[in-house]
Amino acid sequence: MGCLFCNIIEGKIPSKKIFENDRVFAFEDINPQAPVHALVVHKTHTKNLDELTPENSHIMGDLFMGVKEVARIRGIDAAGYRVIINNGTAGGQVIWHLHVHVMGGKPAMGPMIIP
Ligand code: AMP
Ligand code: ZN
Repeated sequence: MGCLFCNIIEGKIPSKKIFENDRVFAFEDINPQAPVHALVVHKTHTKNLDELTPENSHIMGDLFMGVKEVARIRGIDAAGYRVIINNGTAGGQVIWHLHVHVMGGKPAMGPMIIP
């Protein structure tokens, strides 16, 4: 059992890795909602934004530096892209390891929320 994304980070569950450094791991979303749909996760497990504190807030900087790197590697940095965090049940979070969605690869991402 355990956390799916921790298992992916540890290589116990396969993923299509895009980028990794000592802090973050980025991989292709298994069910892409855009031509480019990547996930960036921190190697320190936190459930979601609820667990951020002044002491671990570097997690967000690490994640967003990872987002920039993913966008560069996947070639969507110049055109622009959308970044999403689904936080908590009402936010649509289903995997309880804080992650950032990076979506792009088409001329426009469309409305932010589908009514
Ligand atoms: P969220 O709703 O923000 O919790 O999003 C979870 C995301 O994880 C979804 O977009 C899923 O498609 C994605 N996902 C679930 N399992 C895997 C997996 N094994 N490898 C890659 N992405 C996954
Ligand atoms: Zn985890």
